[in-house]
Amino acid sequence: MNDFTFFNPVRVLFGSGSFDQIGERVAGIGKHAMLVTGRSAARKSGLLDRATGLLEAAGVDVTVFDRIMPNPTDEIVDEGGEMARREGVDVIVALGGGSSMDAAKGIAIAATHEAPISEFLRVQDKRTPTEATLPIICATTTSGTASEVTPFAVISTVSETMKSAIANDFIYPRVAIIDPELTITCPASVTANTGADVLAHAMEGYFSTAASPLTDLFAERAIYLVGRHLPRAVEACGDLQEREQMSFANLCAGYVLSNCGASVIHALEHPISAHYPEVAHGAGLATMMAKWAELYWEHDPYKFGRIAHLLGRGIPGASVEQSAEFAADAISGLLSRIGLEVSLEDLGVQRSEIERMVDDALSYMGGAVAKTPGDLTRDDLIKLMEASYSSGGS
Ligand code: MN
Repeated sequence: MNDFTFFNPVRVLFGSGSFDQIGERVAGIGKHAMLVTGRSAARKSGLLDRATGLLEAAGVDVTVFDRIMPNPTDEIVDEGGEMARREGVDVIVALGGGSSMDAAKGIAIAATHEAPISEFLRVQDKRTPTEATLPIICATTTSGTASEVTPFAVISTVSETMKSAIANDFIYPRVAIIDPELTITCPASVTANTGADVLAHAMEGYFSTAASPLTDLFAERAIYLVGRHLPRAVEACGDLQEREQMSFANLCAGYVLSNCGASVIHALEHPISAHYPEVAHGAGLATMMAKWAELYWEHDPYKFGRIAHLLGRGIPGASVEQSAEFAADAISGLLSRIGLEVSLEDLGVQRSEIERMVDDALSYMGGAVAKTPGDLTRDDLIKLMEASYSSGGS
């Protein structure tokens, strides 16, 4: 067995009703919180009021920053950072999905470092966050990015048409509140998109050159749970038991992501949603996952065979490896059950931009590409995107 390291410093509060602890948890860290959330969901669901009430009851002052959009930009993060500095905020609390949590992490840096956040995202002369970074607490309302347990913040730099990530231990949240009841209000389409993200984190980490026997355990559990529970969570959004299983799947995949990072699918998806900000992260990922399995199953027949089995498409009684070629079908079957059997063309991507997006991926997501087994070349990446371009394949 290979040596490995594993690190995750986040205190996880998992369970329905755990959100009620937010006041005391924040009060243990700071006196003045900035609540970072999207433009309407948390307000409509009453969650923003509930959070404000719990924080104030615990003696914490609250400043609300409710301007986060999907695929959050450097501009909005700088705005939040400026406000946090002006108001004297000493703890950042994210309330929402990946966009709110990643923006909150960016704000925690922007508020405490005399520089625009883009300096921490660019390819050359990238700045590194320091221990001055404000502490972060995340309460997640989706089962998707797992940002609540990772050291990553994905932020789009508008002037560069770039969607890159800050990866730094100072943006590991202090506390992750994972309350499946908060995901009940998540609409079916968002449930499907974020569920595809969970599958991608687990799958990419499973094959990553950074994978370990420990992350493999989490990855296999996550893949199994997504296959079993995501379709039902999409069909019956109000079913708390399905939501709990997806919350747990997301947490498992989060431990994979935080230790292995992402690989080729995420590397290619980032340029897609940088150029097409209306493309949801999970939908972008969904275009390429099955094609990747179809093109690469022979590189690791054991693990692709395991995926086929975990998703219920393995050949009973045969060796695991013999099921490897069915992994692609198993993945596309799952995606079709959640309404996400989509192509790049379906998402409005121009075929003529594929090469440019591949070059972008190599420029600022090169580390993720390098973690993918098979020493993928520029041509390999183009081939994968071309194969994912139209519904019937290339
Ligand atoms: Mn992701």
